[in-house]
Amino acid sequence: MLKWLKIFFNLILPPRCPVCGKVVANSDALCPKCFANITFISFPYCKKCGKPLELFISEDELYCEDCLIKKSPFRFCRSAVVYDDFSKKIILDFKFFDHLENKKLLAKWLFMAGKDIFNEGVDYIIPVPLHYSRLFKRKYNQSAVLSATLSKMCSIPVLYTTLKKVKKTLPQVHCSGKQRLKNIKGAFQVINPDSIKDKRIVLIDDVYTTGSTLRECAKVLIRAGAKSVDTLTVARVCD
Ligand SMILES: [Zn+2]
Ligand SMILES: [Zn+2]
Repeated sequence: MLKWLKIFFNLILPPRCPVCGKVVANSDALCPKCFANITFISFPYCKKCGKPLELFISEDELYCEDCLIKKSPFRFCRSAVVYDDFSKKIILDFKFFDHLENKKLLAKWLFMAGKDIFNEGVDYIIPVPLHYSRLFKRKYNQSAVLSATLSKMCSIPVLYTTLKKVKKTLPQVHCSGKQRLKNIKGAFQVINPDSIKDKRIVLIDDVYTTGSTLRECAKVLIRAGAKSVDTLTVARVCD
């Protein structure tokens, strides 16, 4: 019965490509032309931070320069696609313009990009939270919506209220590198530390830009007792 209902709805309201609007077979797919424009992050990438690497030298040299010299609060970071004009449109439509139907496509990308993380083992998904004033304006938190959809695919539970944004910050896009760190410092708090004690967490967000927001979240979670923190984002700014 459900199958017939689905066929009926698809006939009157067929799923469309989120970029160009062309009719597509599934609600979590792009049309072939728009799909070809998306740059997926594929092997070789840094084993730790997921940054694309120019060359594959050997299994032992699968770390980027940054990960070889700098200490990081993350176990792994992974992103599905490069943040460019094509992926940007899908993400911004989803984030700011109520195109919630894009969640299936974006969560599918997260699920695929997170295979190293899921294979290593994760106890909880935590979305990067919004301050209540911004949530009020936007009506929904795009990271929480993505987390809920991803959770159905990977069967890992989501903790929605454990990590809270307690400080109103400027949008990070308006800040330079150093300002970003200052802006976000002290912005997050763990509400119920017992729930994450010795747990492996994967943080979900739409875009990894400089990583300063995710890094601050990870520090707070680790300080509260989390065993490890990974990040999984739809897109990553690559230069
Ligand atoms: Zn299209
Ligand atoms: Zn790296």
